[in-house]
Amino acid sequence: MKNKRFGELISVALGFTLIFVLLLVERIGILYTSASNEDVLLMDDRIVHDKETRKGKECLVIWDDANPASQKAIKIYDQVLTDMRVPHDNVNLVENEEKIQTLLKGYSKVVLAISDLESLDTQIIELADWVGEGGRLLFGLPPYKTTNFNYVSGKIGVISASEEYAKVDDFASKEGYMLGAARTYPIIDGYESALSVVLDSDAKLYASTGDGRVPLVWSREYQKGKFVVCNFGYAEKAYRGIYASAFSLLDDIFIYPVINASTFYIDDFPSPVPAGNGEYVKRDYNMGIADFYSRVWWPDMLNLGRKHDIQYTGLIIETYQDTTEGELKANESTSNYYYYGNMLLNQGGELGYHGYNHQPLCLPNFTYKQELGYKTWADYETMNESIRELIRFSSSIFPNQDMSVYVPPSDVLSDEGRSMLGIDFPQVKCIASIYLEGQDEYVQEFEVSEDGIVETPRIVSGGILDDYMRITAFAELNLHFVSSHFMHPDDLLDEDRGADLGWAVLKENLDDYMGWVDEAAVKIRHVTGSGMAGAVQRYVNLVPDYQVEDKSISLNSEGLIDSAYYLIRANEGQLDEAYGGELYKLNDTLYLLKTQSEKVTIIRSGD
Ligand SMILES: [Zn+2]
Repeated sequence: MKNKRFGELISVALGFTLIFVLLLVERIGILYTSASNEDVLLMDDRIVHDKETRKGKECLVIWDDANPASQKAIKIYDQVLTDMRVPHDNVNLVENEEKIQTLLKGYSKVVLAISDLESLDTQIIELADWVGEGGRLLFGLPPYKTTNFNYVSGKIGVISASEEYAKVDDFASKEGYMLGAARTYPIIDGYESALSVVLDSDAKLYASTGDGRVPLVWSREYQKGKFVVCNFGYAEKAYRGIYASAFSLLDDIFIYPVINASTFYIDDFPSPVPAGNGEYVKRDYNMGIADFYSRVWWPDMLNLGRKHDIQYTGLIIETYQDTTEGELKANESTSNYYYYGNMLLNQGGELGYHGYNHQPLCLPNFTYKQELGYKTWADYETMNESIRELIRFSSSIFPNQDMSVYVPPSDVLSDEGRSMLGIDFPQVKCIASIYLEGQDEYVQEFEVSEDGIVETPRIVSGGILDDYMRITAFAELNLHFVSSHFMHPDDLLDEDRGADLGWAVLKENLDDYMGWVDEAAVKIRHVTGSGMAGAVQRYVNLVPDYQVEDKSISLNSEGLIDSAYYLIRANEGQLDEAYGGELYKLNDTLYLLKTQSEKVTIIRSGD
């Protein structure tokens, strides 16, 4: 009897101790989950290849410097082919003096990054003959309706073409073609930009406008070869994945490496919480900003994270005072940082650097093209001190957190600021700025820079998530198999970022976007900012090479560090299994391959 009472006491005491320890752990944030090994950031000397390829001659890209549409298209195709590791040469028709037949020697594929086929003169005949003999050719832009077009139109499956261009207001992929095909993607400010055609029954349609009236991507076999037409005229960075996917239709089997990562950043978080009220927060929730952040916004964000398996990357701002000269005073008020920062870390998230204050790293020689209300730093030393102070501040609060991500305030970063980070701050291992071009922004590609810093651009942002962001996200999913989003707590205070819509609406948009990523990219890895950088390092270092046989494919991955990911487009037949890798079928024709060994054999079968 006595023993039993004693036992109960012990278990109650143990229970209390356990609760106490859990609270302690939560408070000091020991429960940080470590990143899986295969996306952990590597020392920069491990990265020795820069998107190289070992394959021989493969693709010739023909463009025309005299044509503005072609000038835009060559930029798209050059980068897309580099990223997909397609060995290619670009030939500018303005400078070229060789005959097409001579030029084509040794290539198996051609991309016509031109819309005016007349610039090929009568050589369109040799080009079409080359396809007839087994070549694969992509019309990389909607062609103008000219004599040369009329010469090839029947061969590319066109029964009739109207004189007028068709308006393209949206993009709809067939089910088994691109990832995210369940939705139609509206295009803001669409215009008459595509050939209005009727296709014959031998043409295979892959994408069209939402109403199905304008074919946007199709292929057609021609004698021993094949044509693909990308009848989509908006040659902008946002749409790269649409061009990449069209290119992937040329070969029977096409394999390209991908990043395979999805991240969500919260800029200015933690940071000093604004005092007082926000107009729309007060309207909808009848509370001040500080209360709203802690009682509504942040709990909602944590719920969204749990629901969609997202570990946020928060970017620290020490103060909103805009001092850029003289002494940079430390922020002594740190309770918010402990509160929000540790909760974010406990959820599996990560913290990084955003700024001592919100002034971009720019010196007096920098001129803002846009009026953003920013100053410049008095001199290099003060600019340098601002980052030193930010690092001191951050590591005093989060001594166990290894911070490596830097996000430039408002995505602005001068050349001097950029090189300073590489030279003076080895802590900064990756920069997450922006993917799409702006006026003052530090615009990036997914790559590793010469100073070893990993460039991990963010693709879309905010809670409005308009049509342009949606189609950009869709395109990037199909090119790099990547998704990258950022937002700010103070989106809810800024009308330009949707404050007047109210948090309930913005939250629903976010939930919808996160759900779209879950559905469109079932197998995508959810990572933090440093995980994204680790994924980019491995992606950049990969030098793939593969041979396609009737029954199998052998894939060699030079530069493999620990694991690598590929998307495989099977235009002919199916893929059954992979020896040395894991194969996952994403849709009718697209597979995700994970490999941890240099050599993989993939078994093909018929339909
Ligand atoms: Zn910011």
